[in-house]
Amino acid sequence: MNKKELIYEGKAKWLFETDEPNILWVTYKNQATAGNGVKKEEILGKGKLNNQITSLIFDHLEQKGIKSHFIKSLSDTEQLIQKADMFALEVVVRNVAAGSFSKRLGVNEGTELDFPVLEFYLKEDELNDPIINEDHIKVLQLAAEEEIEQIQQQALKINQALIELFKRINIRLVDFKLEFGKTADNKIVLADEISPDTCRLWDLNNNDRLDKDVFRKDLGDIIPLYQEVLDRLMQLEKETMHNV
Ligand code: UDP
Repeated sequence: MNKKELIYEGKAKWLFETDEPNILWVTYKNQATAGNGVKKEEILGKGKLNNQITSLIFDHLEQKGIKSHFIKSLSDTEQLIQKADMFALEVVVRNVAAGSFSKRLGVNEGTELDFPVLEFYLKEDELNDPIINEDHIKVLQLAAEEEIEQIQQQALKINQALIELFKRINIRLVDFKLEFGKTADNKIVLADEISPDTCRLWDLNNNDRLDKDVFRKDLGDIIPLYQEVLDRLMQLEKETMHNV
């Protein structure tokens, strides 16, 4: 497979075409951003860690029957993925109050929520990704009713699988953001990435932050934290393979 033209540059990744029309080549960047790109830094090693963590998580989800756009990891920072027509939506699932939820609704950070709360945001940097509801999604024709339902179901299923996965490595899955797209055969699949950039991950023992909040709030170096998440996932993978 050969890498061809660059077709998209996001904050954290470059997307290239390949000689296969429905397959794309992703390269993870070292750039970290927060506050819609207002805070921006190069952090050596971040792309590699997020690529490795995302690849392990997408493989795990696949084993749990959850399809994603992920095909395979190519190198430390590169993946092959299926091309997908992306919904202009960010889907956030919350198990514990934190971040914008705590701020907007006045709920203390760390409060367990009685059930997973699902939110939609419009993916539009110029508007600062506003929170939207299902009527907004339909009226803006971002997705049809059945598609919204499928996305909701998949997001909740992914949440259950991830809660269990992270619990096994002593991590509390506070909240996370997902993106979905439609592949050439019209299937809705999970896309983008799942990494400490897109999840809030707290150590189960002491609530230590193992995610991008440490960068957002200038609390220190994120690389050892992301490395810790990867090490725990790899250790778990080794143990599970051993048991098979
Ligand atoms: N999130 C993300 N990308 C975004 C916004 C949020 O990956 O553009 C993730 C974030 O890491 C957290 C969850 O979605 O795990 C909920 O974020 P929140 O709405 O609390 O916003 P924030 O406090 O990050 O601005």
